[in-house]
Amino acid sequence: MLLRDAHNRIIRDLRVSLTDRCNFRCFYCLPNGEPPLARRETILTFEEIERICEIFVSLGIEKIRLTGGEPLLRRDIEVLIEKLARLKIQDSGFRIQDSEIQESNPKSKIQNPKLKDLALTTNGHTFPRRAADLKRAGLDRVTISLDSLNRENFRKITGVDALENVQQSIEAAKRENLTPVKINAVIVRGRNDDELIDFAQFAREKNIKMRFIEFMPLDSSRVWTREMIVSGKEIFRRINARFPLILKEKSRGAETAWRYGFADGAAGEIGIVAPVTEMFCGACSRIRLTADGQIRTCLFSTNEHNLRDFVRSGATRAEIIEFIKDVVLKKEARHRINDKEFVQPARTMSFIGG
Ligand code: SAM
Ligand code: SF4
Repeated sequence: MLLRDAHNRIIRDLRVSLTDRCNFRCFYCLPNGEPPLARRETILTFEEIERICEIFVSLGIEKIRLTGGEPLLRRDIEVLIEKLARLKIQDSGFRIQDSEIQESNPKSKIQNPKLKDLALTTNGHTFPRRAADLKRAGLDRVTISLDSLNRENFRKITGVDALENVQQSIEAAKRENLTPVKINAVIVRGRNDDELIDFAQFAREKNIKMRFIEFMPLDSSRVWTREMIVSGKEIFRRINARFPLILKEKSRGAETAWRYGFADGAAGEIGIVAPVTEMFCGACSRIRLTADGQIRTCLFSTNEHNLRDFVRSGATRAEIIEFIKDVVLKKEARHRINDKEFVQPARTMSFIGG
């Protein structure tokens, strides 16, 4: 039983936001901070997240990414990771519950889908001292956000003087084999586009996978303008002029990034994620769960689906499956950033989970 939307896309990738809070103040995301969600009770508990994720995995979700806000602010996140890591083991106790699917459709074959990839996106601030525990708990890999290699510019962008910590995160991730380590950099004109070559050099020297991301209209202070976007094509052109690049795969499948290697055979990889100027919605396999238990079918959805209250109302597993399947059918064909009538969603990236 797979999750298929009305546009024939199969949903394989679940992003789970663990908190809307953050210890950084990135100007393109959450510059003034947000009041934390009104009441603690609105946030999903680990048990609820585990139950929901288990159901998603039984419906064919293969990748779960924990994000936020800053997911490492969620106390005892290792406990949650341990629970979710069990979904990677085929025929674990979790799968026995598939009998409920059998009950609802006795002819269906017992399926034992399992989670293949458990990842985390973090700003890296507290990561170095947490890396070993996260690995031990069962995390597979990590993506670290790093928007500048210059200490002062890093502080200007994130509001925190933490470049050194974040750089240490990369070493810690490698040491703990939380690989492949990916580095996200949101490139914004006039703020860090002058560092593109430094980043490419960094990828080569450190043998890491850089991901350059176009600035999307999901910031809480609504400063986004089209002029601030550095398009994927421009990012490619500027890096390629200094370090010639070779496209790794002609098709990117459900991946968001065009991936390039260096023509001179140097280590490292350049990935370009251009959701605004080169929409990739046609191959989207993602769905999101907010910290307060709302399903979002697109980063840019203007409405959400309250799974939390449905689960808390005592819904059975079969009912939750029906709820999720119905929601997936409502997944938008594409985003509308480039349409005249585009409306920025009320909730911003730190709530939605990037
Ligand atoms: N706090 C963690 C971090 O920064 O890695 C995880 C959450 S953050 C919302 C996830 C990713 O979204 C980060 O790599 C961040 O750079 C990216 N992001 C945030 N706001 C964005 C925006 N307006 N446009 C593009 N990417 C954005
Ligand atoms: Fe926090 Fe990540 Fe948003 Fe920066 S991008 S403010 S680190 S949630």
